[in-house]
Amino acid sequence: MSDYKGRCHCGAIGFRFRTALVPAEWAIRACQCSFCRAHDALSASDPHGELCFIAEGKELLRRYRFGLRTADFLLCSACGVYIGALIDTSSGQFGIINTHALQPQQTDLAPPSPIQYDSEDATARVDRRIERWTPVTASP
Ligand SMILES: [Zn+2]
Repeated sequence: MSDYKGRCHCGAIGFRFRTALVPAEWAIRACQCSFCRAHDALSASDPHGELCFIAEGKELLRRYRFGLRTADFLLCSACGVYIGALIDTSSGQFGIINTHALQPQQTDLAPPSPIQYDSEDATARVDRRIERWTPVTASP
């Protein structure tokens, strides 16, 4: 597995994403919800990988919930960057990264697929995330 690091602009919060997939094989999703569109966010995850979120400035970590309120969207309250999302489930924690927060920037990512998740209820949403998001090994 290789390590891919990401962080917000000021460096207060970040992540380490471990995956055996090369970036060109990542499934890149352009979620069409109004939050992700406003951030121009692109999501990636690997159910067989590992994800760890880091907050050096824990007080700067902002958790934002909206819609069905099933996950925390992680933003830096100093620089405003959205780095990824985290869900707590009965099967453990799972997360996605915002590929725009990767440092260094990955230029060989697959083209994003636009996706709408509007029709899901809370159960379907949590089940999909358990299945598709990356197991989280550490979170602030
Ligand atoms: Zn920041």
